[in-house]
Amino acid sequence: MLNQDNIVAIATAHGFSGVGVVRVSGKSLLSFALTITHKSKINPRVATYSEFFDSNHEVIDSGLILYFPSPKSFTGEDVLEIQGHGSPVSLHMVLKRCLELGCRIAEPGEFSRRAYLNNKIDLIQAESIIDLIHAESEMAVKSALKSLSGTFSNYINKVNEQLINLRMFVEATLDFPEEDIEFIVEAKIKNKLEILQTEIKHLLANTKQGVLLNNGANIVIVGRPNVGKSSLLNALANEEIAIVTDIAGTTRDIIKEKIVINGVVFNLIDTAGIRNTDDVVEKIGIERALHAISNAEMCLVLLDDSIGITPEDDDVLAKIPQELPLIYIHNKIDITGVRAKVEKKDKQTRVYLSAKTHMGVQLLRNEILKLIGFDSACKDVFIARTRHLESMNKAVHHIDTSFTNWHNLEILAEELRYAHSNLTDITGEFTADDLLGEIFSKFCIGK
Ligand code: GDP
Repeated sequence: MLNQDNIVAIATAHGFSGVGVVRVSGKSLLSFALTITHKSKINPRVATYSEFFDSNHEVIDSGLILYFPSPKSFTGEDVLEIQGHGSPVSLHMVLKRCLELGCRIAEPGEFSRRAYLNNKIDLIQAESIIDLIHAESEMAVKSALKSLSGTFSNYINKVNEQLINLRMFVEATLDFPEEDIEFIVEAKIKNKLEILQTEIKHLLANTKQGVLLNNGANIVIVGRPNVGKSSLLNALANEEIAIVTDIAGTTRDIIKEKIVINGVVFNLIDTAGIRNTDDVVEKIGIERALHAISNAEMCLVLLDDSIGITPEDDDVLAKIPQELPLIYIHNKIDITGVRAKVEKKDKQTRVYLSAKTHMGVQLLRNEILKLIGFDSACKDVFIARTRHLESMNKAVHHIDTSFTNWHNLEILAEELRYAHSNLTDITGEFTADDLLGEIFSKFCIGK
């Protein structure tokens, strides 16, 4: 349900800055803007310099005011942007004035939610706003911008169109008695299904890339002291400095470092602290590390060729899930004289490198990306979420089932209907209110 109140929020981050923005969305905001500025005229979509006044006609701040009349605004309603000084106190004075003039404080994500409800953006685009704000690499920012501009939605809509087209064809054919279905019609259905299957699988692969960019991946590092873990981290971190954001709830105490490879953020979890102990506090830390390991996507086993795996490493390795992909890294080849290389034998990957001279480090980066399934050659990466991937996996499942049942029109019609509904869940064409609530509540206030 679209709530009609006028809403207001400070749109810039809390703190001291040169400029701070208060954003208002709702109805009849021109007269609102004239009241707060004491002006007789404000042109739409043009920055107007003004003083801002309280109810006693005293100046509370000065800056720019922008008025975007409905429907050509972010939310589709009238929108005001009041750009004052970035002092928390002055921003609150402007906010207070807006409340006096009839606004209420916006809920988290309410501006974006209104934009979605007014069909200015779809659900993918709304989600990409928050993904853009939280992006941790340049590649993630660019990909979020692609999703925001509609690249991902367009792909979904294109597959959806084919699906609708096929559904109409199947439903129309259903109306004829079975014996009347001609060979040519059957061939047409099969052919259309094949094309659809190829397209959606291609889209699924791209979506997986987008989810990786968004979520990053966890890597566990195993290796006894002095094998060169810190040196390797530094060598890997060379590519792009990871901006470490302080997100509540992450197990920051056990994550040693973030690195970025081709835009994908990896949290490296050091297992150095994992050992048998009776110390209660240490045990808690170890529990956390083990939990992180259970969520990891990959493990790097670091070896000093001259020593190999020690019993302590074996203890840690025993705690790592068997199915977790591993890369064995033979470090210090500058001493052993082995050349930098990747060796694949008996399903094991071994990379020979020197963390000190950086020889072979790029080979390791490539192997890490390969192992988590990131295709560096993929140019058109848009940001995506686990939610999108789950729905798309369901859609692919239903399309695969339709394919195996293509001769049974009733099953086919049913399966295609499910696939269609899975895809519309992604763009949010018919999304339930509770899911919307969950998505938008994760936004910050003012977005
Ligand atoms: P960690 O204890 O596993 O984190 O190991 P460090 O990264 O602190 O490295 C231990 C020692 O090995 C340091 O003196 C490093 O300079 C040295 N080292 C690390 N990698 C290499 C390498 O590739 N070649 C050589 N020659 N020394 C290395």
